[in-house]
Amino acid sequence: MRQLQATAKVLSITKDSERVAIVSDRTILYPQGGGQPGDRGSISSLNGDTTFQVQDTRMKNGVVYHYGVFEPSDSTFEAGQEVSLRVESQRRELHSRLHTAGHLIDVCMKLVGRTLEPAKGNHSPEGAFVEYIGAIPSGEIESTRVALQKEIDRLIASGASVNASVLPYDEAAGLCGGSLPDYISKDSSPRIVRIGDHTGCPCGGTHVDDVSSLTGLKVTQIRVKKGVTKVSYTLK
Ligand SMILES: [Zn+2]
Repeated sequence: MRQLQATAKVLSITKDSERVAIVSDRTILYPQGGGQPGDRGSISSLNGDTTFQVQDTRMKNGVVYHYGVFEPSDSTFEAGQEVSLRVESQRRELHSRLHTAGHLIDVCMKLVGRTLEPAKGNHSPEGAFVEYIGAIPSGEIESTRVALQKEIDRLIASGASVNASVLPYDEAAGLCGGSLPDYISKDSSPRIVRIGDHTGCPCGGTHVDDVSSLTGLKVTQIRVKKGVTKVSYTLK
């Protein structure tokens, strides 16, 4: 998902709840998932006469839909037409940083001795957080936040590469601490992301190359509610 420009063929153009949706035979735009917002960008005719501004990208039943508007508004594409895809790179970069920050927090939580099971996360600029099943005792929350921030700062300063690869199930499980979540089929080849030599996790999202680009990552709050620990963060 590093490619920011590519060509594709239009498969269909439909209206879905008042929005126009384009499906192409391939895409480089990331559909919302794993807590990461969908990409924006554009789909243009090769002669540049018609552009479809992609405002959001979503996946439904394995199909990626690009939602947006045509410019000019009365223009359209033909099914089978070859088009040029472009990802809005600044937004993608921000989301990749926020999303990778979630992985870095996972790694650092373990390094400070909090081996809680990761649950859902939200890696949007407005209110990014990662959640864990399990509680940190209330008297240890502030010291955990301080230790976590220290560990994050240390890893960002030393740098560590971020690598994602599609692996056979058993090998993937081995890199992820010996097991994978139940929703991953044993017949599949999961995509695993790893920061340096730390424990990996299955992920389909987009990442930065190295955690050194996550300078400015700040854990703003740790909150425990109903047995769930929520770590909120911001990125400058
Ligand atoms: Zn990821």
